[in-house]
Amino acid sequence: MAQYTLQPDINFVRELQDAGGDNLKRCYQCATCAVACPLSPANAPYPRKEMVWASWGLKDKLMKDVDIWLCHNCGNCSDLCPRGARPADAMAAARNMVYKDLTEPSIIGKWMSGIAGLPYLFLIPAALWLVVWSLRAAAKGSYFPRAADGRIVFGEIFYGDYTIDPIFIITFFGACFILYRGVRKLWEMFKPEGNMLVIGQKKSWIRHLAGVLMDEIVTHRKFDDCEDGPTTGKAAGSRKLGHMLLVYSFVILAFVTAVVALGHWGGKIVPAIEVHTPMSLTFPVKILANIGALLMLCGLAALTARRLTQDRLNHVSNFQDWYLLGIIWLVACTGILSQCFRLADALKPAFVAYYFHLVFVWMLFAYLPWSKLGHFVYRTAALVYVRMYGRS
Ligand code: SF4
Ligand code: SF4
Repeated sequence: MAQYTLQPDINFVRELQDAGGDNLKRCYQCATCAVACPLSPANAPYPRKEMVWASWGLKDKLMKDVDIWLCHNCGNCSDLCPRGARPADAMAAARNMVYKDLTEPSIIGKWMSGIAGLPYLFLIPAALWLVVWSLRAAAKGSYFPRAADGRIVFGEIFYGDYTIDPIFIITFFGACFILYRGVRKLWEMFKPEGNMLVIGQKKSWIRHLAGVLMDEIVTHRKFDDCEDGPTTGKAAGSRKLGHMLLVYSFVILAFVTAVVALGHWGGKIVPAIEVHTPMSLTFPVKILANIGALLMLCGLAALTARRLTQDRLNHVSNFQDWYLLGIIWLVACTGILSQCFRLADALKPAFVAYYFHLVFVWMLFAYLPWSKLGHFVYRTAALVYVRMYGRS
């Protein structure tokens, strides 16, 4: 008979409890959660097995488990758990633990795991943009210069060609590279030891990815599956609407950024496509940008309201949840404020708001591989993996 030696890691259990799974020891393994989960497959149900691994301190098994990424944190399992063990929060805590150490520099993952790290996370971009501001102010002779025609133009200080564009291009592609390394590592972790036998017709990962993007991003179908799950008797606002609004606002704003960048850089070669900033409020690209900002505010409001009104006995939002919501709120509010101050010709408030806007946008992108936003990428990788290979 095969033998398996358990190697419990007590420190890991404590870390998991600190990361949000504080009630996991209450679990008495009744499996109600695995039955209640609308997304759990019959042949490898979760989250009961994850609760067992977590309680026993089986770090290796839990950290390599593809299923923790397939959970959509709908909370049905927590609502129906007879022991108040909050399996949904334990699954979220396990995910937080994985991406905390998944990529280098892991010190950022450590800072991102609790409020104590927040000052460091803020001070890095705050210092960076202050140096840019000071250098440009020295060249311009003022911290708050006006353009030659008297208008407020942020590019007078935060000049796109030499400051914003290179800094954000390096930041964005640097974050993408770190994310890519994280996905590769995660993918290797999912693989079982030894050889893997794949039965049936194999599709390319691109085709699987297209299917996942359709379910997860375009239609948010999985959220419907969650909401159509077993009746829990607990009132809960829709997560789908808030998520969809936020995702679509990101898509719109990414499109606007690409158009402006193309107009700016491409316009140097083909003057006909040049885009001048600041754009007028009636310029189509600006209208689209403001629609994106409005959708973002609505999505944020819906998700924040849902978190604030959740049943605290069964659902506790962790630091990562609030960090992401908080940063997106700050990006949206400082962006809107800098535009309002500029239109109201309030020179100093406009520059200060814009400075903070740059700081928070940098935080959003630079720390993406260690934040809940990285979830989208890691979860997508897990879904593609499961469609390609199933579970070990
Ligand atoms: S987490 Fe709750 S529902 Fe799931 S097995 Fe444990 S006690 Fe049962
Ligand atoms: S939170 Fe929802 S998706 Fe995740 S394990 Fe529980 S029931 Fe399943």
